[in-house]
Amino acid sequence: MEKIREDLQQEVIAALRRLAPTGFRCEVCTSQNWAVQKGFYWFSEHYQSATVKGHGPELPSVAVVCQTCGNSKFLNTRVLIPSFPEYY
Ligand SMILES: [Zn+2]
Repeated sequence: MEKIREDLQQEVIAALRRLAPTGFRCEVCTSQNWAVQKGFYWFSEHYQSATVKGHGPELPSVAVVCQTCGNSKFLNTRVLIPSFPEYY
């Protein structure tokens, strides 16, 4: 399980490097000091009414955090890697 996660992490980092080979600037502090966080974050739509509670589509994401100011970006891993698995 951990090996699969690490391999996925490396695939995501490779995809980011292909998209932005010279890096990109933080729009808050202008540094280029980013770090890809370990692991993945799953956002999902939630809804709740008086009688119904549930969740909708999920967005598997990777977090990229500016190490200078903390600005954080979450990129959809299914866009970066179309074959990103449902489970791992
Ligand atoms: Zn920053």
